[in-house]
Amino acid sequence: MNAPLKTTAEAATDFVRRHIGPSTRDVSAMLESVGANSLAELMSQTLPSSIRQKAPLDLGPALSETEALSHMRELAAQNQVFTSLIGQGYSGTILPAVIQRNILENPAWYTAYTPYQPEISQGRLEALFNFQTMICDLTGLDVANASLLDEGTAAAEAMALAERASQVKTKSFFVDAEVHPQTLAVLRTRAEPLGWNLVVGDPLADLEGADVFGGLLQYPGTTGAVRDLRPAISALRAKGALAVVAADLLALTLIASPGELGADIAIGSAQRFGVPMGYGGPHAAYMSVRDALKRSLPGRIVGLSVDSRGQPAYRLALQTREQHIRREKATSNICTAQVLLAVIASMYAVYHGPEGLTHIARTIHRRAAVLAAGLTKLGYAPTSQAFFDTITVAAGAKQSEIVARALAEKINLRIGDGTLGIAVDETTTPAIVEAVWRAFGDKLSYADVELNARETLPVTLKRDSAFLIHPVFHTHRSETELLRYMRKLSDRDLALDRAMIPLGSCTMKLNATTEMIPLTWPEFGSLHPFAPREQAAGYHALFARLEKWLCDITGYDAISLQPNSGAQGEYAGLLAIRAYHAARGEPHRKVCLIPSSAHGTNPASAHMAGMEVVVTACDARGDVDVDDLRAKAEKHSKSLAAVMITYPSTHGVFEEHITEICDIVHSHGGQVYLDGANMNAQVGLSRPGDYGADVSHLNLHKTFCIPHGGGGPGMGPIGVKAHLAPYLPGHPATDGAVPHAIGPVSAAPSGSASILTISYIYILMMGGEGLTRATEMAILNANYIGSRLDPHFPVLYRNAKGRVAHECIVDPRPLKTTSGVTVDDIAKRLIDYGFHAPTMSFPVPGTLMIEPTESESKAELDRFCDAMIAIRSEITEIEIGRWKVEASPLRHAPHTVHDIVDDAWSRPYSRATGCFPDGVSRTDKYWSPVGRVDNVYGDRNLVCSCPPVADYAQAAE
Ligand SMILES: *Cc1c(COP(=O)(O)O)cnc(C)c1O
Repeated sequence: MNAPLKTTAEAATDFVRRHIGPSTRDVSAMLESVGANSLAELMSQTLPSSIRQKAPLDLGPALSETEALSHMRELAAQNQVFTSLIGQGYSGTILPAVIQRNILENPAWYTAYTPYQPEISQGRLEALFNFQTMICDLTGLDVANASLLDEGTAAAEAMALAERASQVKTKSFFVDAEVHPQTLAVLRTRAEPLGWNLVVGDPLADLEGADVFGGLLQYPGTTGAVRDLRPAISALRAKGALAVVAADLLALTLIASPGELGADIAIGSAQRFGVPMGYGGPHAAYMSVRDALKRSLPGRIVGLSVDSRGQPAYRLALQTREQHIRREKATSNICTAQVLLAVIASMYAVYHGPEGLTHIARTIHRRAAVLAAGLTKLGYAPTSQAFFDTITVAAGAKQSEIVARALAEKINLRIGDGTLGIAVDETTTPAIVEAVWRAFGDKLSYADVELNARETLPVTLKRDSAFLIHPVFHTHRSETELLRYMRKLSDRDLALDRAMIPLGSCTMKLNATTEMIPLTWPEFGSLHPFAPREQAAGYHALFARLEKWLCDITGYDAISLQPNSGAQGEYAGLLAIRAYHAARGEPHRKVCLIPSSAHGTNPASAHMAGMEVVVTACDARGDVDVDDLRAKAEKHSKSLAAVMITYPSTHGVFEEHITEICDIVHSHGGQVYLDGANMNAQVGLSRPGDYGADVSHLNLHKTFCIPHGGGGPGMGPIGVKAHLAPYLPGHPATDGAVPHAIGPVSAAPSGSASILTISYIYILMMGGEGLTRATEMAILNANYIGSRLDPHFPVLYRNAKGRVAHECIVDPRPLKTTSGVTVDDIAKRLIDYGFHAPTMSFPVPGTLMIEPTESESKAELDRFCDAMIAIRSEITEIEIGRWKVEASPLRHAPHTVHDIVDDAWSRPYSRATGCFPDGVSRTDKYWSPVGRVDNVYGDRNLVCSCPPVADYAQAAE
């Protein structure tokens, strides 16, 4: 045997060195540049000593990448991959290998950010546009968004939309008894704090006299029944209520769409379009609406607009609906959604095309019909004669016997109250169907039974309308074509695989390859979220350890891994606070203090949790105005529920007063919600649970390395102190035990379980020391950028010792007066230099917030600073009158190939200055595919899905 090349300890620090950008030598140079003698000194100047963590993080020894993967193999081996025929909103599916490798496993797609800068996001915007087109076509509605978190929360969002849009001013919402139980549970959680009442019943019998603002119907139902919902939809609409249909996208290739049935809103999951079940997620949910409702649609919508040369260009439409603008009046708190999964689902449709999807649906239906025929023979006729892929049978006294025999065949059935459900999917083979029959008591041959099996979809519901007629769903059918299409789109985008993405608050750090590997192993990918717990022992070992680590890191006592995003974590944490107050006989505590600098999701979440938002001021230094906060806490003392505070602040500073703020709120009976999005500045150095916070969410897709995926997936687990632990979210699939648990905030008990592997491996390979080092380096990098840029663009906020935390805000606002250059101009000009812009106008309008993270090397930080400084000198050219701002390279940025070949070029700067500014390589130039995108035009002429074929025909004429 070969001797190992390195000792374990050396190999482990190897990963820390790879995760962290700057070398030891760089660190010395940077420390010198910021004027600190050591990292320790810099930390003591940055964090208030009162909050410093006493003991170093002890998370056990760090593992090397190789060791970490073999540890993951062991965990994976503890999960058992059975054939899950449970259905209930989750299906086995085949992810085409070409999509798995070139999207799911491709950093060009998974390391991209939310497409707020449309020019550098045209590829993923097109993929999302395809997704929206697919959803509109399949559901028969006019406008779709670019994904929601899961089917349960999509249903809750639809209920809220119905409440806003309905003419019926009542507090009740109808829910079909055939909706998935987890959807009903998520709806209950959402309805309760808003004072809404759910009426559960049979839509074809119980709607008549119901006084409701809307109703949710499931199509096909959770037991598999395919019902003609037209009478129920008409009954709802006749009252002025909105009809929401939760529909299975694959079934819609065969049965009439919700739009054709008259529905106002359709929601559902796109999971079975190629996305592994992953023990609950991540998957993309969808929502589509009638045109009249488009301005109330939650989530992001991709729209078509034009660029500066009038060429078509995509961008996010109707952004004024979003929380960062509407705050507590926002339509929803959804920020991070499920972009990567929506892209995968859209590519699945591009890969299969309409005939391919229809063929899959037919095959599944046929198989289900054969299964039903066999079961009928065995004495178990399905409860519904009309079904698509799922049948339910009454099992009576035989139930546990059948279940046991199915388990012996490695098959999971859905266990109901005396019933058994069996859902067929794309992966179900005749052999599996035969195994199910054996579990039900006899041997039958698939081929024999098939001879007499009849398809069971009602003729009256047959789908006649065409879908996916756009050429994109027809022209990429060969693997070569599809491969090149995906490559073409990703080449248009700027993701972390090309350049630093210095987005403040978003923590775009390394998503190491090793961290991504286990995610696609079947032992993690193929588990159904409601599979028996014994089959997921590896997952539960991982959850337990991850929870313990996150407790150690944050100083909290308990963690819920359920929330699927930071905003969902906020919502869950506030619900826990609300339940805590109620349990203490103080349900009237509803006021939530939120500083004006808070992220928009904070007020939006507070509003959803039934709280009343009271905004508190910030002082001239950017800190929370403690006097104002105290005054407002006093004023609302009796009704104070909570404060929501971000720490270090969204201004990028560790405020000295944090402990005092916590004390003030506690002294008035309120709880402290500390937004943990900025944990990348704290891990190993300070713990929210130690200095007074009661609950926080952690954005695992920021601090803990889950890639942003172009706008999702993410995970937003919450940590709480012991007194709030009884109020963490429960789930109908796991409950009973926790008496005070609030209901679920996600459809699956552990949210998007499969991507928890990423954060787990990250912590495993960093260890306590490595994580602490990462935090220190994140702070050093930010201070280094601050010190380099300050002479050119002043750093807006620092602490008393002149330090920023892990990010810094630079202020170009005075330049607007001296030159007319806007923050937008700078952001777009950065594209010409090959960079994604920093966060723009949050939290301070007109400024840029820069967060480098620990993963960027000094060379990359310098390249970025050089670009910013070069842009500053271009602004000087305008200030001294050499260029007019309207004719400057700043206003015309980004420059494209159209510019370089423009024979009619008449601008006062050369084409080379426009396209290849200072330091930009001619070899490795990133070309923005479009010029500056016109946002106003796009909102005035809203186009959110591919135009119908007729338009193409006309254009071709
Ligand atoms: C990112 C962020 C959030 C929201 O998190 P999502 O995961 O996008 O929902 C909340 N607060 C702050 C300060 C953030 O930076």
